[in-house]
Amino acid sequence: MSRWEGLIFDERGLIPVVAQDARTGRVLMVAWANREALDATLETGQLTFYSRSRGQLWRKGETSGNTLTLVELKGDCDGDTLLALVEPAGPACHTGEETCFFRSLAGEGGETGLFLGRLERILADRAASGDPGSYTARLLAAGTARVAQKVGEEGVETALATALEDRERFREEAADLLYHLLVAARSLEVPLRDVLSVLEDRHRRSPRPQIREGAPA
Ligand code: AMP
Ligand code: ZN
Ligand code: ZN
Ligand code: ZN
Repeated sequence: MSRWEGLIFDERGLIPVVAQDARTGRVLMVAWANREALDATLETGQLTFYSRSRGQLWRKGETSGNTLTLVELKGDCDGDTLLALVEPAGPACHTGEETCFFRSLAGEGGETGLFLGRLERILADRAASGDPGSYTARLLAAGTARVAQKVGEEGVETALATALEDRERFREEAADLLYHLLVAARSLEVPLRDVLSVLEDRHRRSPRPQIREGAPA
């Protein structure tokens, strides 16, 4: 019995794969896979598709170096679409954009909820650059004690805005606090994912009746 039993491949033997950044939640690209491509993905740990134009297996990043390392592969409810959660090595789109979905056709702000994860990556890039024009790079270079001081200040300012019920100041100070928390996490080399998984574990262990995932609020 094949691992892919239960999946629905179309008449060409293909199934669509949505690649999503496991860290930021951003949807990066969509491409097709056949059984062989899925086997290769598991064997190599890197997303491998089937190129319809070239009629052959295509390991994403084989020429650009922008590979997608598999974190988790999921099938949807009826098994006709796959979701690959990945760790990208660089821009997933061949245009050099981080995601293929960089063109907005209607509405705006749909990915704002994902920004904290994106910011974590931006801060890591700034830290690595050591650019003296970057506040983040300078703060990190100043050392953990300075970062700790900033977290304390912004925490107090956020508390004050809360106590005063000053919503405008709260927005600003909470943003400052979140930013400095990310810098502190960077300084200690603790991934945001590790912090979030503590929250996730607590939620799982919570004895209170839980809202069913996906249930309408
Ligand atoms: P790569 O797999 O990144 O080495 O790119 C090899 C070729 O695959 C590129 O020249 C593009 O033609 C194509 N390609 C790469 N990434 C994408 C993508 N996200 N969507 C569609 N085509 C892509
Ligand atoms: Zn489906
Ligand atoms: Zn693209
Ligand atoms: Zn502040």
